[in-house]
Amino acid sequence: MERRKFIKTAALAGTAMIGLHQFARAWDNEPTIGAVMPVLFVGHGSPMNAIEQNKFNSTWKELGKNLPAPKAIMVVSAHWETVGTKVTAMAKPATIHDFGGFPKELHEAQYPAPGSPEFAKTTTELLSKWQVHEDHSWGLDHGTWSVLMPMYPEAKIPVYQMSLDVRKKPEEQFALAQDLYELRKRGVLIIGSGNIVHNLRMIKWDESSYDWAIAFNNTVKEHISKGGDFTPLIQYAQLENSKYAIPTAEHYLPLLYALGLKTKTDTVSFFNDVTTNGSIAMTGLLISGAQ
Ligand code: ZN
Repeated sequence: MERRKFIKTAALAGTAMIGLHQFARAWDNEPTIGAVMPVLFVGHGSPMNAIEQNKFNSTWKELGKNLPAPKAIMVVSAHWETVGTKVTAMAKPATIHDFGGFPKELHEAQYPAPGSPEFAKTTTELLSKWQVHEDHSWGLDHGTWSVLMPMYPEAKIPVYQMSLDVRKKPEEQFALAQDLYELRKRGVLIIGSGNIVHNLRMIKWDESSYDWAIAFNNTVKEHISKGGDFTPLIQYAQLENSKYAIPTAEHYLPLLYALGLKTKTDTVSFFNDVTTNGSIAMTGLLISGAQ
């Protein structure tokens, strides 16, 4: 799909792509000196989004075509929790199938992107005060490859992951993310992969949503749109309906990494802004600076 058509389609689908048109035009040219990579938060939902055709991954696919070409991609995935923050540093990360009961095609899917030992090292150096360590045993979990398979199907761009440290408080994770800003300047696309609303115990097998799921998704978007102070989102447990929307924090926390990387002059666009399956929000964010 052509870029202009995609933007029109996104608008027709009710997807708020404010800003993308403006930046897409700027990105027609070669990267500008001093330009800073955008940041994404992606609501990844079902692992099937890796291989089936649907409205969610068609947006991811168009993002992949329209964003400036990254030198590497670093994903903070909901599906990698560790004691202490870790960064994958292997040259050839394995595709991890960290789920069960899906079709054979999904269990056999491979995303053979190279890793980036160089950017992994840079990342640990940038985060020296946080004592981040290189990892050689993980790989790419489905929080990463189920999104990247549609977004960058050729799997040529180096990809590495950063874990969620179960010992760090949300405010520490937000502060750590702020220290990653230099990576944006060096051409790394940072993606938080989770879901703003994620409650598997209350999941429904249709496209309807609980009122509290819709309300919580709206509350989070309102705080993001106001910009500036993200304290209410960092202290998410105090938000109304959070005990239903965030029964466990791992799918929500990658959002804080994306928000921590936002500067005052960056703009935020929402995409795939829907709740589905009762208790899942697919809402994503594109955070981008003026070109
Ligand atoms: Zn997940």
